[in-house]
Amino acid sequence: MLYQQVLDLLKSEISPDEYQRYIRHLRYDEKASSSDMLVFLVPNQLLVRWIQTKYANKIAHIYESLTGKSPTVVIQYHSSRQDVNNPVTKPSATTPKTVSTLLNTSYTFENFVVGSSNQLAFAAARSAAKSPGQQYNPLFIYGGSGLGKTHLMQAIGNYAISRGFTVIYTTSEQFLNDFLYNVRNQTMDRFRQKYRQCDFLLIDDIQFLSNKEQTQEEFFHTFNELYNLKKQIVLSSDKPPKKIAGFEERLTSRFEWGLMADVQPPGLETKISIIKKKCEMDNIHLDDEVIHYIAIHMEDNIREIESAIIYLNAHANLLSRKITIDFATEVMKDLIKDRAVDITLDDIIRVIARELNIKPSDIKSKKRSRPIVEARRIGIYLAKTLTPENKMKDLAEFFGLKDHTAVSHAMKTINKLLKTDENFKIKVEALKSKITSAKSVSGEMK
Ligand code: ADP
Ligand code: MG
Repeated sequence: MLYQQVLDLLKSEISPDEYQRYIRHLRYDEKASSSDMLVFLVPNQLLVRWIQTKYANKIAHIYESLTGKSPTVVIQYHSSRQDVNNPVTKPSATTPKTVSTLLNTSYTFENFVVGSSNQLAFAAARSAAKSPGQQYNPLFIYGGSGLGKTHLMQAIGNYAISRGFTVIYTTSEQFLNDFLYNVRNQTMDRFRQKYRQCDFLLIDDIQFLSNKEQTQEEFFHTFNELYNLKKQIVLSSDKPPKKIAGFEERLTSRFEWGLMADVQPPGLETKISIIKKKCEMDNIHLDDEVIHYIAIHMEDNIREIESAIIYLNAHANLLSRKITIDFATEVMKDLIKDRAVDITLDDIIRVIARELNIKPSDIKSKKRSRPIVEARRIGIYLAKTLTPENKMKDLAEFFGLKDHTAVSHAMKTINKLLKTDENFKIKVEALKSKITSAKSVSGEMK
């Protein structure tokens, strides 16, 4: 089955631990799924948002790599008493019925915390929502991942819908798929009718149309038509218009006609307010000390901060524990480690050398004694896991191996050992956690 293949591939990309804890709970809901929406069921509410934030995109990408289609992945709660083939839970209000109404009802202006990092984008979004097609048309929101672009766009959408406007919110990938689908089926008049008769066209992550000339061409005409009718257009991207590669000039120049507003990483105070807001919305109680801990230790991506809160709360619930600062530190260690942002190859070698009592230079040498070969293999394995930015060829060079095939050979050997030899696995895990915790302590002291 296709979805099984998807989950198997996902399994190979994540740690066995993550698989056991989260992914193994997923059950595919065939009835509710379609080619542009994959629905998975999980047995508890806390897993829903955790898997949705952390793995849904990955699942979508894997599916796309297998089929060429990019679906929306929806994770839903399903009590184990219900029959999967006959779920009682209808898709909730936040679940898309069709692509164009994919709006999360909690993404509102009221739920958006304003700080200096996002106040321009916020004000512009509100103004575009209140007076569509006037001053800020198109509104172009750009900035890094997890900083609130989608939230703002959907806030515009929710607001406009509440006032009776016709709104299309879509990602550029869905726009593209929709376009191709209608071209194939010779139903372009339907496509045009849909996109040109709305009051608000909100297209998220427009950068994915890069180099898609045909779709850009179609979008160009859609844009012109809506613009002339004074309908509100809102676009988002990870970069300002002129910096997105693979776009026609006539489009990027139009993107600049209205207002460009960026969202910046939030400062500490804004982060704290956002955490408080999320806790309030989810009915989670956290002490100020814990809130500060999260704000300081998590990076600026608010999606990850949200995941951290959910993760923390899930653990506290599952273990029936109160969220004290000690508990938070303990649980969050995993998350902060997971990010393993600035671990270098030298860090890895240093810890392995120290723990296994082998000289760092020996690990990188051509020596073939057993302990050294083992240390080298572990080094390669951990380097591959903890520094994904390094390619096989870089690792070969660093560890003094002939070429990348030697690296993949070492990886195979070690993966086999990890599966068959429990003691070895424990040893490797212990080394991994030494490396990551050494790093998060030193990060703290910076
Ligand atoms: P982007 O589209 O920029 O990658 P999102 O809009 O998806 O980011 O935001 C990620 C998560 O962070 C969402 O759940 C969103 O509600 C939350 N978020 C981001 N910025 C804010 C903010 N200023 N106030 C409240 N929540 C925010
Ligand atoms: Mg987004």
